[in-house]
Amino acid sequence: MSKRIVIAFGGNAILQSKQKGTAEEQRANVHTACMAVANLVEAGNQVIVTHGNGPQVGAVLLQNEIAKEQVPAMPLDMCGAATQGQIGYMIQQSLTNILTERALPRPVVSLVTQVLVDENDAAFKHPTKPIGSFYTAEEAARFSAEKGWVMREDKARGGWRRVVPSPDPIRIVERAAIRSLLDAEALVISSGGGGIPVVERAGKLYGVEAVIDKDLAGERLACDVEADTLMILTDVSEVALNFNTPDQVNLRCIALSEAKRYYGEGHFKAGSMGPKMLAAIRFLEDGGERSIITSLEMAGKAVQGLAGTIITRTGEGYPCQ
Ligand code: ADP
Ligand code: MG
Repeated sequence: MSKRIVIAFGGNAILQSKQKGTAEEQRANVHTACMAVANLVEAGNQVIVTHGNGPQVGAVLLQNEIAKEQVPAMPLDMCGAATQGQIGYMIQQSLTNILTERALPRPVVSLVTQVLVDENDAAFKHPTKPIGSFYTAEEAARFSAEKGWVMREDKARGGWRRVVPSPDPIRIVERAAIRSLLDAEALVISSGGGGIPVVERAGKLYGVEAVIDKDLAGERLACDVEADTLMILTDVSEVALNFNTPDQVNLRCIALSEAKRYYGEGHFKAGSMGPKMLAAIRFLEDGGERSIITSLEMAGKAVQGLAGTIITRTGEGYPCQ
């Protein structure tokens, strides 16, 4: 059965934690991820891709930091836009090549995407998302005085980092353009890194220094394109209760109500599985049919109901084995 599926690639689909981040490494990872997308396209599904940008935006920020005496440093929204272009290009080229090879030609487009957030979102008063390099206590004090950055100590990793707000995404600004592209049978890559956060003031958009969670932005994207399925691909094949304890239980097919109960019980860590489960829950509450959280390797099986954590309104309706 053909579905419209929004796929959100996790960090490791582009860069694995032990890798340095060379272009070759990223290209090779992206190729593997794109093979999974191509398999879903070949099976008759319409796929929209979104992706994270953590390591890449960290690298761009560092490049700006190091070169700032010679080239003006760019603000966070511009750096986010740069990574959408860079990662979008890799995915776009890889998918074009794979689909051409498989005689499934179609336009592949990556779109620099703005995502609207609310200036009054409580997140702006409580920045939580660490970005960029680690600094000494002296540097941290200087940056907060000179640039107004909020700095937080990461004791475990021995240094200070800038933290920025992580507001809730409201809507994808370019959604009408994305829908037109989908109507033209294009494969769209959108909202990379959670999208570039923008606020609206007197009818005009302005970029802000914040980071939107990519899974929550992916959920908005899935709603805005009326997808049937939101599929979040990360580095575990299933979501677990009592994760990383002797009592760990992996979840397969569950109902929305169970997902909400487990979420409320605090099984999913903030900053990692938490926002994925929240995105999965919101998608169903917003009218979506099915949310899947699984690994890249299991993507094909999961769409058939045969792997991964699958959340539906009733917990049934797919051949869950
Ligand atoms: P991505 O980079 O793909 O967005 P994250 O690293 O942010 O992924 O989140 C995925 C990670 O969440 C997993 O590798 C796992 O270590 C962690 N995690 C936290 N809680 C859970 C849970 N309850 N079940 C499964 N994984 C969990
Ligand atoms: Mg990760």
